[in-house]
Amino acid sequence: MKKEIFLSGSLLILIFFAMKGLAEEIHWSHDHQAEWGSIQHLTETRIPEMYPFATCSIGQRQSPVDLSIMSNQHKTNRLRIHYLPDHPVFFNSGHGVQVNTSENYAGKLVVGHEDYSLIQFHFHEPSEHVIGDQSFPAELHFVHVRDDGKIAVLGVLIGLGKENSTLQSILDNIPSEAGESRNDESINIHPEKLLPRNKRMVFSLAGSLTTPPCSEGVDWYILMESITISEAQLLQLKALYSENARLPQNLNGRVVTHQP
Ligand SMILES: [Zn+2]
Repeated sequence: MKKEIFLSGSLLILIFFAMKGLAEEIHWSHDHQAEWGSIQHLTETRIPEMYPFATCSIGQRQSPVDLSIMSNQHKTNRLRIHYLPDHPVFFNSGHGVQVNTSENYAGKLVVGHEDYSLIQFHFHEPSEHVIGDQSFPAELHFVHVRDDGKIAVLGVLIGLGKENSTLQSILDNIPSEAGESRNDESINIHPEKLLPRNKRMVFSLAGSLTTPPCSEGVDWYILMESITISEAQLLQLKALYSENARLPQNLNGRVVTHQP
């Protein structure tokens, strides 16, 4: 009996330290994005833990990029988007407006025959991907993960025009404090309503997360048709997070392909 109590006690201590480790986030900001790679984890003396975001500066397949430098090569993997309505968690990540899907959410992206579960989506203002000189007022990233941890992101460029009612529900429910989340079972969000009509035309390339740790091995799909939000909605988004976009990165020989 005594032993059991002791074991559960040490287990609790372990859980406490594991949670503390997760909470101990290293500070970074979009204002100083050129320095992400040299940010040091001060309590670490081991490499690579000392420079947790080194990939941001030394990675060769970083995102976002300028999509106008396209090859004529056509992507063969078929992309199918199977999103479902959800009661998600509205999360103010400290770096942007984010929506986390619920625990058993079945919405997914199917690339060829591979399933990638939708885990969250978030917004950047202005857009991160650009087309030549053109950037868009905002960009939406749907983040998916495969069973083995591989990440695929579906990007949607956002222009100004008609208001989007699903974005309005998100803006109305995002907590104002960084790090806070809100879960209201009465609010239903259908991610599909944040997609353009044409989901067939898509740019694709190999890239990375666009925020630290800038991990590579991320497959990117960016829809060619944009969606619209109203000017008032863009202002509301900017009031929460503005200029939270990473600048375009070098292609370093990568090829942007497109589905005709
Ligand atoms: Zn993003």
